[in-house]
Amino acid sequence: MNRFEYVRAGTVAEAVQALGADPSARLIAGGTNLIDLMKYNVERPGRLVDITRLPLDGIEEHAGGLRLGALATNAKVAYDERVRDRYPLLSSAILAGASAQLRNAASTGGNLLQRTRCYYFYDEGTPCNKRVPGSGCPAIGGVNRIHAIFGTSEHCIATHPSDMCVALAALEASVQVGGPQGERAIAFRDFHRLPGDAPERDTNLQPGEIVLSVDLPANDYGRHVTYLKLRDRLSYAFALVSVAAALELDGDTVRTARLALGGVAHKPWRNEEAEALLQGKPATRESFQAAADLIVREARPQSENGFKVELARRAIVRGLEQAAAGTPQSITDKRIA
Ligand code: SF4
Repeated sequence: MNRFEYVRAGTVAEAVQALGADPSARLIAGGTNLIDLMKYNVERPGRLVDITRLPLDGIEEHAGGLRLGALATNAKVAYDERVRDRYPLLSSAILAGASAQLRNAASTGGNLLQRTRCYYFYDEGTPCNKRVPGSGCPAIGGVNRIHAIFGTSEHCIATHPSDMCVALAALEASVQVGGPQGERAIAFRDFHRLPGDAPERDTNLQPGEIVLSVDLPANDYGRHVTYLKLRDRLSYAFALVSVAAALELDGDTVRTARLALGGVAHKPWRNEEAEALLQGKPATRESFQAAADLIVREARPQSENGFKVELARRAIVRGLEQAAAGTPQSITDKRIA
């Protein structure tokens, strides 16, 4: 690990200033990903800016919905009574991720900013366009079973590893950020990027900007929701494919549908055409299969992950069926319903 300076920010303005003053500076909150990245020499910050003392750990009522402070831990959000009652999809997704110990330390902002778990990204002995721009992407044509099937580029085929973000995408959250130019809101769909020709950039944050909160809008997705996560083992594993499904039903008819997939792209993957297709349709397997077919039509699998296309298709149908049935989401039992 390289040597670095440690500073503690007392205010958001101090954090923004410290971040802007040194391009190699990194914010640290829970540190559950950053410390690993530093141990592997992937991140070599000249300065660590500790933001854990900033007053950003609250969960508050906001514009009819909830405002999740950037420093609210994943556990705090998942077990908050208001989140569990009004946004059970989010609770469920958070609790599908990591371990209890990690969720106690990991922050909301950090969850958004965690990096891919592509093997090559963590291996200094290999090229990787995300770690060293222009060095190449050995995952293309290499070991790519866990990689993306949507939105890839010739420069990177990595996936975003978060579960929480998949639910936030389906719930149409927005991200409040602060920076040298003041505060602004970023719609969740625009927060993360596809790799394109700049895979080193995961998000659309501008230099010096920090995440202040994640805002959940008011909605009626309290009852008909499912977070279905398919992975190699039931605990402490990243998704091969996950589905966040939320439905508003009028009897047996879909009034609105929101769907996001995880484990399949550089960002939570939404397809609004498929959501629109479901609108006004009966909440049946046939309707859900039509939506799933529409989504997977865009898939471009790699040499080792063709199985993800069928896995995604089936997971979408199953997720929507579970959501329509109001299948209870256990917070302690990870077995697939
Ligand atoms: Fe690096 Fe992306 Fe290729 Fe993985 S998929 S090796 S992160 S460029």
